[in-house]
Amino acid sequence: MERLVSKHVVLESQVCVLCTGAMETTLHLCRECTFSREVINSNLVLAQICFTTETDGMTVLEWLLYCSERLDLNHFGSLIFLLWGVWKERNCRVWENKVTRASDVTLMSCSRLQDFINYNSSSQGGSTRRANMVIWKCPPVGCLKLNIDGAFVKETGAGGVSLEAFQLIVEYSLQPVIVETDALTVKQ
Ligand SMILES: [Zn+2]
Repeated sequence: MERLVSKHVVLESQVCVLCTGAMETTLHLCRECTFSREVINSNLVLAQICFTTETDGMTVLEWLLYCSERLDLNHFGSLIFLLWGVWKERNCRVWENKVTRASDVTLMSCSRLQDFINYNSSSQGGSTRRANMVIWKCPPVGCLKLNIDGAFVKETGAGGVSLEAFQLIVEYSLQPVIVETDALTVKQ
């Protein structure tokens, strides 16, 4: 949001759609918003570690680093999936006008995390998937990286990728841009 504003992108509203009580910033969405806090506080360990007075005034990155140093991998994974759930909920409200309660966002996030753990710990699929995995690399400073996935219809094999991201890049002159995709036609 802050980046869009700094690039003078006209936004309908800058108010947080989750709590409607503050301006939506990355910090607000991740740790200040009452909705996000309700979701994160559903996990008692996270509730004890993530919102101590020590963390007041931290940036998002400092806060995530602080949490990663004090939580074990499972709990830090929970935090990331809960934050992802909050972000998905924010997008559902903005783009689809759908509202889900914090308790349901929590349940869905925990379920997604469990699926992720099950999938990666199974001997089948997990090892194949890991073998094909490509490590994501951060783009150079001042450069935007666009990661896009394709989708296809299983029965017919017809598929494509969304062009909306490309349109946004052209519309707002967001350059330079690195495009990363596994869709063959876009690569070509
Ligand atoms: Zn909020």
